[in-house]
Amino acid sequence: MKTKNLELINRQWFTDSRQVTGNTTDSQLIDAVFFAIQGEHHDGHEFIGDLYRKGIRQFVVERSALTPDRRTELMNYADATIIEVDSSLQTLQELAAEQRQKVHIPIIGITGSNGKTIVKEWLAQLLEGGQGSTDFIIAKSPKSYNSQLGVPLSVHQLNEKHTLGIFEAGISKAHEMQALETIIRPTIGIFTNIGTAHDEGFRTRKQKIAEKLRLFIHADTLIYCADYADIDEEAHLLLKAVNPGVQFVTWSLTGRSATYQATVQGDQLTLASPEATPIQLTLPFTDPASIENLVHCLVTMLALHTWTNETLQARLNRLRPVSMRLEQKEGINNCVLIDDSYNNDVAGLKLALSFLNQQNTRARRVVILSDVLQSGQAETDLYEQVGALIRTNDVGQFVGIGPVVSRNAHFFADSSLFYPTTDAFLAQFPFAELRDSTVLVKGARPFSFERIVARLERKVHGTILEINLDALTHNLNYYREKVGSDTKIMVMVKAFAYGSGSAEVAQLLQFHRVDYLGVAYADEGIALRQNGIELPIMVMNPAPETFDALLAYNLEPEIYSMRLLREWGRFVAKGKGQGAESSLSTPFAQHCIHLKIDTGMHRLGFLEEELDEVASYLKSHSNLRVATVFSHLVGSDDAQFNSFSKQQYETFLRTTTALEAALGYRPTRHLLNSAGIVRFPEYKFDMVRLGIGLYGVEASGMNQDALQTVGALRTVISQIKTVRAGESIGYSRRGVLDHEARIATLAIGYADGYDRRLGNGVGHVWVNGTLCPTVGNICMDMTMVDVTSALASEGDDVLIFGPEVPITDLAKQMNTIPYEILTGVSERVKRVFFKEGN
Ligand SMILES: *Cc1c(COP(=O)(O)O)cnc(C)c1O
Repeated sequence: MKTKNLELINRQWFTDSRQVTGNTTDSQLIDAVFFAIQGEHHDGHEFIGDLYRKGIRQFVVERSALTPDRRTELMNYADATIIEVDSSLQTLQELAAEQRQKVHIPIIGITGSNGKTIVKEWLAQLLEGGQGSTDFIIAKSPKSYNSQLGVPLSVHQLNEKHTLGIFEAGISKAHEMQALETIIRPTIGIFTNIGTAHDEGFRTRKQKIAEKLRLFIHADTLIYCADYADIDEEAHLLLKAVNPGVQFVTWSLTGRSATYQATVQGDQLTLASPEATPIQLTLPFTDPASIENLVHCLVTMLALHTWTNETLQARLNRLRPVSMRLEQKEGINNCVLIDDSYNNDVAGLKLALSFLNQQNTRARRVVILSDVLQSGQAETDLYEQVGALIRTNDVGQFVGIGPVVSRNAHFFADSSLFYPTTDAFLAQFPFAELRDSTVLVKGARPFSFERIVARLERKVHGTILEINLDALTHNLNYYREKVGSDTKIMVMVKAFAYGSGSAEVAQLLQFHRVDYLGVAYADEGIALRQNGIELPIMVMNPAPETFDALLAYNLEPEIYSMRLLREWGRFVAKGKGQGAESSLSTPFAQHCIHLKIDTGMHRLGFLEEELDEVASYLKSHSNLRVATVFSHLVGSDDAQFNSFSKQQYETFLRTTTALEAALGYRPTRHLLNSAGIVRFPEYKFDMVRLGIGLYGVEASGMNQDALQTVGALRTVISQIKTVRAGESIGYSRRGVLDHEARIATLAIGYADGYDRRLGNGVGHVWVNGTLCPTVGNICMDMTMVDVTSALASEGDDVLIFGPEVPITDLAKQMNTIPYEILTGVSERVKRVFFKEGN
């Protein structure tokens, strides 16, 4: 086992099957090891067969996952090396720790509640680059890879060329830090700050601080801000006790005893210490969080090296805001753009490629890539690796921008295009030929790839609905945990996925392997199929005119009446003889249907007394198979209807039991929607139907904090003017001012979904941290708000709803329900999808 481990160190590690998509036998894949991990929501062992066919030949598998069937499957892969361990994650961690021990360079370990990623990225921007003696060759965590899995994958990048490592460590529960400490083993520590996030995983704040301090039990130096009195105290008390040699390098903005006294006036920072002449610098960012992050970086630099004031200032001047976001946007010529134009290293490239692979909506893939900076690898090795990544990810067109990638053109397909600079690309690239593709734009900062994104993006007016894909995943996982792994999930993606964009949301759900999708109409199901969705789809309102389409696109109808049942029965029987092209239409094929029972909604569905007739019809039509049988609660979101919900449950239980007996088999039963999952876990049956909860609204109101906000509707200020008291604003002179006011006109109106009921001060929008009321009537395409008390300029962003303006508040103000607001955002509003970090 040990020797096997050692062999595994220098190979490519994969834990995410999406990162391997090629079907070529590539040397990269021969080298790769796949660690199958049984996660809470995924089981990596399910992908082994796929990966074997793609060329992977080494697998680390978990003993407890090896069912007899799986063992038989693995025997078929005779030429593969399969290593059985108790825990793949732990093995990965041990390997990374071994690898760490082989390098003898400064390693910076960062933890804390906020700012870890920004401090890490800024430190890297400050310390690497040119060829000077103070320029380090840095290995760092990609994005915010700071978890039990992210940390070993980050540290695995370390090789003998690196001269500095910067890794972040994040924990959410007690006792998690120990493993991370062993892997990172920092020589220099940074404790950024302490907040309230993840408090639920700890008994007290002190316990949380103590756990985080464990990262530094072998560090020589610890850097922190002494103004966090709790950190200061625990560091002296606890850390000193286990690591007496540790040196504290601290700073304070408030005059507490510390190594450096920091003062900030406007954008001027002074760092004074007793030993040296004070350092005076102009800060590039001056909000409180940035100041804290910047001072952490500067103090760390000073701990590593001696710098002149001029050099420090020159380095500060090259700092850029850090965005870990990967955004998906609509592009020109029916393209989908993936915008990752902020950094470009190999680890980040792999992440971006795996995101590209999730997007199946366009068959052709295009990658536009700048020189890869900051790798610490020899140039030819690096581009050989990049070339292989591009090849194994089925990229149809590669475009390289920059002198270095251009001179390594031989590692890429002949059809690839190369340009020395971004300007040359913009001037010469045949944009008209770029169509119907998914385009990944990934470039290092100096290449200003935001200009390429601006060129490729489809322009629309300034209102967008941002969809946070990580929040969607979080919410899905919340409900998955609630119902447990034995209960299936159907996700309702009707009405454009509650306004969020059906194809993109469905792609994500398909990746997360939900069991079923539900839509209202055949059209919606067809659109999903045309966008590469292969999950089973139930259509709730299958009109007879759409029967052909249902069959052609393999969509499964909800059957709610005898009339509909007979029509569908006749239709599929007729289709029988003609079904040359579709295997579905062979005489013995069974067609899945979903029976809807009316237990009290009195909308669609069979009443209890009709079910004998349904059963006898089905017994004589054995080509119709009841895949599922379901009903819908009328008041699962409200405790006042609990007894009615119970009555519905009992009716459902009784009717489905009788139906099963009559049919002689057991269809999947489902009753609960989102609110029901939270309120009535005991009624979950075999499947649940998740709707609004996925989109971030906990409709029962019992557990809103467990969900994350998915959608943010944003617009911009088109104009600002000062208007005198007594003047009126907008149509019909409804908004009469009782004070002189600064009035901003926003690029959003009721045609975009900003409801007219929110006019005249009912609604408030979020402008740079201030809630501002609407003034006057809302117009079709514009809205006026009073920004007198806000810091506002023309062109500024305005949030209509989102993290700071809960959709539930808006719904209350409008006297409606969040569903109406979500689905009311008009289709003319561009949807932008993004992922943070991992
Ligand atoms: C829309 C819908 C759901 C989902 O309801 P939520 O309240 O959004 O969770 C479930 N079942 C049926 C039949 C629906 O139409």
